Amino acid sequence: MTVFHTPALGREVVSALAVRPDGTYLDCTVGEGGHAAMVLSAVEPPPRLLGIDVDADSLSAARARLAGFEGAVSLVHGNYGDVGGLAAAAGLEAADGIIIDLGVSSLHLESPDRGFSFRREERLDMRFDRRQARTAWELVNMAPAAELADLIGSLGEESRSRRIASTIVAARPIETTTELAAVVAGAIGGRRRRTHPATRTFQALRMAVNGELENLRSGLEQSSGLLAPRGRLAVIAYHSLEDRLVKRFMATESRDCICPHETIRCECGHRASLKRVNRKVIKASQEEIRANPRSRSARMRVAERLAV
Ligand code: SAH
Repeated sequence: MTVFHTPALGREVVSALAVRPDGTYLDCTVGEGGHAAMVLSAVEPPPRLLGIDVDADSLSAARARLAGFEGAVSLVHGNYGDVGGLAAAAGLEAADGIIIDLGVSSLHLESPDRGFSFRREERLDMRFDRRQARTAWELVNMAPAAELADLIGSLGEESRSRRIASTIVAARPIETTTELAAVVAGAIGGRRRRTHPATRTFQALRMAVNGELENLRSGLEQSSGLLAPRGRLAVIAYHSLEDRLVKRFMATESRDCICPHETIRCECGHRASLKRVNRKVIKASQEEIRANPRSRSARMRVAERLAV
């Protein structure tokens, strides 16, 4: 049975983008087409939409889900870190609305062979793009202890990263997700808590394998360059590192001068290109969280391209 990914903050995305029939929309992480389907069915006739995903399996799922919108939709296999190049190649010059949804999709967590989840025994993998050579297996089994500790500490915000890294190195080779989860739990104790002790380590490895923060940085920059005047950019993050990056990017691009505070006269010449649509981050309602528990951690920020 195919269970499609339920999009987080779907209604909020449609309203944030103020979807119009004559608009052009860009979904940088089209996934299984959940948000895209909502944008396309929000107005009649459906607007034009370009969907990008770095994962071929997700793209096939999106193709199936969006089959009813043929003509309005183009789907492209690529990395949104290069969204400028991908949009140009697809003939899209400017977008009235852009979505970046940073979650891991149900497809990744629930397919048995993608190696993201410690709920089932799977070979360590975690690549969104299976054309890429480096997997989580390589990191876990080959990286020096210091590199592992640094990435688990910084990307996982895990305070016991050194202990985890040295326990991993001592336990090599580690082949599967469940083995790794047990090694991490062994390193930091299986104290009772709401989340599994390996959750932060798995998040860090996933982010490192896929270069997630680097892609987000360049994706944000290139996306804002693609917005038409008054076009809107909606970004949904699922943890604090990503959300902080999005928040800072939108804050910086909404300011004319970004010189350090002590500077008396502006030397940077930076000009605002965006304005924030919502100052406060948008979160899922209790009702949505009840229906789709994964929306609990979703944080959406929206910015609009200035008209001039
Ligand atoms: N909004 C989608 C779900 C997105 S889940 C829906 O409603 O169905 C996040 C998706 O982002 C995943 O499919 C993942 O493969 C994709 N992804 C992650 N990093 C990416 C990148 N750098 N470029 C393009 N897609 C990426």
